Amino acid sequence: MRARLVLLGSKGGPAIRPGGPSPTSSLLEIGGRTVVVDCGLGVTRGLTDAGVSLKALDLIFITHLHSDHVLELGPLIHTAWTAGLATTVRVFGPPGTRDYWHGFLQAMKFDIVIRVIDEGRPDLRQLVDIVEFAEGPVLAEGDLAVSALRVDHPPVTDCFALRFDHAEASVVFSADTAYFAPLADFADRADILVHEAMLTEGVDRLVARTGNGARLKEHLLASHSFAGEAGAIATAAGVGRLVLHHLIPADDPEITHAHWTAATRKSWTGALTIASDGLVVELADESSA
Ligand SMILES: [Zn+2]
Ligand SMILES: [Zn+2]
Repeated sequence: MRARLVLLGSKGGPAIRPGGPSPTSSLLEIGGRTVVVDCGLGVTRGLTDAGVSLKALDLIFITHLHSDHVLELGPLIHTAWTAGLATTVRVFGPPGTRDYWHGFLQAMKFDIVIRVIDEGRPDLRQLVDIVEFAEGPVLAEGDLAVSALRVDHPPVTDCFALRFDHAEASVVFSADTAYFAPLADFADRADILVHEAMLTEGVDRLVARTGNGARLKEHLLASHSFAGEAGAIATAAGVGRLVLHHLIPADDPEITHAHWTAATRKSWTGALTIASDGLVVELADESSA
């Protein structure tokens, strides 16, 4: 398995529009492991389109419980189960993840019970192991180490950037955050920094289109980073490549790659990728190890 990062869903926020991209989810294939980071709407289709057998589902990480990061967690696991999943999936998420999962099982109780009886499937409840994590080391297994940093995403307090370290590559996900200087230390010399980003020019038009104007704009400005701020973190951290992800706006025809690049170049001169659904970043080419 070639180590790779696939941006499955690249937009920030839960709404989808005709022809537009999907909310946030990513696939990280590293050290022979299949790792899913965030489960926004579309993650299941995104994984299968990326060639992943749902039976191979292994590790899932949720950065925080906003719906654009967790809405399809239950449906992903349930669909993998109907596709023949027979090994334990471990889900690492913030406090509240276990409640989400139990609520999902409750909502789908009729179907789950009937498939166990009627189709002889293993009990879905016993196939999933939920681990609620806090800041610090999250997982160390074989050559893979994962750690978390609490970031600045009000009013959500349990929102965590994640760092994956392996000989093949080190990859950091910012999660959703306003400009947060400590992220630079956390991402120190990572091969890849996947950072959320919004674009000044697009925010006003997005707010006008969405219809809850002032409040939405207030949330965006207090809780998210502009592309130039993502670039500043990348520069301070000295990463190998910056990937702009969780784009706001992501489906404005007047906003092109040139706008994102121009905004980021003010603070970052290194390798740059602007996410789109299904985009692959090969990690073998990135690792300095
Ligand atoms: Zn989000
Ligand atoms: Zn969020």
